[in-house]
Formats: sequence, structure tokens, C-alpha cells
Amino acid sequence: MRRDLIEPNCDLCGGREFSVIYEADAEKIASFKLSSEMFRCTSEMHEFFFRLARCRTCSLVMVHPRLDDAVLLELASNVEDSVYDDEKQGRFITFKKSLDAIDEILPPREDLLYLDFSCYLGLFVEVLLQQGRNVQGVDICKKVVDQGNRRLGESCLKSGLMEDWPDLFPEQKFDAITSWDAIEHVLSPLDYLKTANRLLKPGGLLTLTTMNYDSLFARATGKKWPWLMPMHLYYFTPQTLKRMLELAGFQVVKRTTYSHVVSLGYLLYKINSGFLGKLRKWRALKNIFIPINFGDFMTVYAQKTE
Ligand SMILES: [Zn+2]
Repeated sequence: MRRDLIEPNCDLCGGREFSVIYEADAEKIASFKLSSEMFRCTSEMHEFFFRLARCRTCSLVMVHPRLDDAVLLELASNVEDSVYDDEKQGRFITFKKSLDAIDEILPPREDLLYLDFSCYLGLFVEVLLQQGRNVQGVDICKKVVDQGNRRLGESCLKSGLMEDWPDLFPEQKFDAITSWDAIEHVLSPLDYLKTANRLLKPGGLLTLTTMNYDSLFARATGKKWPWLMPMHLYYFTPQTLKRMLELAGFQVVKRTTYSHVVSLGYLLYKINSGFLGKLRKWRALKNIFIPINFGDFMTVYAQKTE
């Protein structure tokens, strides 16, 4: 697989001038194993060796240069993940809280239509189905979507390239679209937000989560921030995300920090070193759940205005 690097324009303002934040490790880029493993949601590949740069015009932080779009798409379209499925209890708890927060802004009604962008194995969709809501999901990876539909016993998850998503739902106009920890992975977040805008009804609600590069924890940990990972192409601040949402036809109505609930077993799996790493094999730890919130993830609620 080709590992040539490309130099995309800034996705927010189209700028071509960047300031380097962290220089790339050329040796690592030349030697690391290119595999879909790095796109697994539960990827352990936390070491960051691409160049991280900030647009000189609008301050968007992105990987620059990066792997070719075709290579990234090929890798992201072939993800298989068994660890994520194992950890679904923690994610269910996270998603139930997330849905409660959405309900505060958009109170549930029988006629509401929900769509989950980058639905992965469909766990958030499952939370809505359990409550009898009308929901569908879409993801670029056919493998995880097929796995999800088999698990749900339904066919409410669809797969395809992002530019085809509007055609997958010809009759639908959604009241709410969600996207959990996904916008930082896509080739063009601006196109992603514009696609959400096309699929929403006027006044529809978009809810998305991503890391906050401007958070205290991110700034304090610098290059050791655990979310600097090869699979993340963009790092937003509240300001750059707000600006991009406005460009895509949205107005931010609320922003909060986001907490993930994980099992102690999964936490140790992520730490995965020394004595603590060995502890993760204790199955009992899978049933102890803790909320994780270092203030470095944000949930942004935005309304379609145009
Ligand atoms: Zn820019």
C-alpha cells in the first residue's frame, strides 16, 4: 500500500500556510505497519508520529502532510473490532446519558426521525431502538455495519462512501443527527457537516462529540495527550468547530464537556502496561464502571439554520 504523503489545504478556510506544532518522525512513518488496526475504535496505537500543524489563517489543527485519501479510505473501510463489542456495557451507559442530554433540547416525540452518523456497530442506534424510536445509522465501513445489522436483527444501518449518504435516505429528512467521536477521523469534516445539513429538516439538531484541543488537559499533557493518534486527522477547539459548523449552515446552541463511561477492565486494557495491564484479564473488572472526564472531550449541539 502506498505511503506517500499529501498536503491538503486547510479544511476550514482553504489556507495553504501551516505552522508546525510537532514535527513528524520520518523513520516511523516509513516503517510502521499500515493496517486497518489503526482505525479500530479501540485502537491501542497511541503513539503519534505524523506532523501536526496549525493553519496560519484560521488556526485549525490537522495532520499535515498525511497519508493519501485513497489509502486512508481503504484502511477505514476494512475495520473489524471485537474489543468494542466486548465493551458495549460501558458504551450503553455513555449513550443513554448522551440521549438524555439530547432529549432536554429536543423532547422525544413519536414522529421524530433520528440518524446516527458513523454509527459503527450500531450501539447508539440500539439504545434508541430499545426506546421504540425511529432511528437509522450510516457508516463508511460495510464490515462493521453488516456486523451491527446481524446483532440488531434489523437492517437499519447502511454503509457507503460519505458523498453517497444523502442518496441512501432518499425520502428521509431527519429531526436529529448524531456523531460520536467521529468527525476527527474523516477526510473532510466540512463536507461531513454539510452532508449532515443536507439530511436534516430545517431547524434540525446536530449533536457531535470530539476531543477539545484547547482543553486544559490537552495543553498540560502536550505531545503525551493520549488522543494524539495516527487515526485522528483533525483536532478541534471550540472556536474552530463553531466556525466550521457555521460555514456548514449551523448555529451552536449548547456546548458541554463529554464523559465516557468505561469498565475498569477496558481502562486497564487501554493502559496496558506492567502490573495494571495484567489485571485486565480479571473478568470481574468488566462489571465495574467509571465515568472518565478530563474535560478534554466536548459535546456540541447545533441547529440547522440554512
Ligand atoms: Zn485554515
